[in-house]
Amino acid sequence: MSESRNVVIVTGIPGVGKTTVINTAVEMVKENHDEDVLVLNFGTEMFEVASKKGQVEHRDEMRKLPTAIQRENQKLAGEAIAEKAKKTRVIVDTHTLIQTNNGYLIGLPEWVVRAIMPKTVVLVEADPEKIAQRRQDDPTRARDAQMVDTIETHQQMCRAAAVSVGTLTGATVRIIKNR
Ligand code: AMP
Ligand code: MG
Repeated sequence: MSESRNVVIVTGIPGVGKTTVINTAVEMVKENHDEDVLVLNFGTEMFEVASKKGQVEHRDEMRKLPTAIQRENQKLAGEAIAEKAKKTRVIVDTHTLIQTNNGYLIGLPEWVVRAIMPKTVVLVEADPEKIAQRRQDDPTRARDAQMVDTIETHQQMCRAAAVSVGTLTGATVRIIKNR
């Protein structure tokens, strides 16, 4: 019997327009296949863990926590997502690289992706200028300011991280440009 995989991971750097792409995908699946897809936000799962432990009050504080704590919460969030994906089709909204005080934390390390076993990793990309603009315009979040050239490097590193997930799990990797 061939294995069935229920999870598509959608990733892209902050401000790339991931949420819009996900909402469109959910509508398309509903229209074309009459199927519902559960969208799970990895950050929300982590925030649930971290806020229960009294570590943070806002989701943008999580990447400032000691890395050991972030990794611990990340593992718990990954396991919670894997459990939910046993029953239904899932899109996971997450990051491949999180900018922490100690450099980039890998969002999808081996133990997380082996638990989730995604079918596909979708990497959403956009023009660095547009991303910088969108971050400035979002009053709901405490986004880190980033220069256009660092945004470009960050996006390149995300490609490498997405390919690593494919290498570890056999997932396919798809790049989508958000225009
Ligand atoms: P978001 O709302 O998608 O920007 O996620 C909020 C926060 O959740 C991020 O700033 C990270 O601190 C954390 N987060 C999201 N996905 C991951 C992940 N895969 N690994 C570690 N931290 C994550
Ligand atoms: Mg988002």
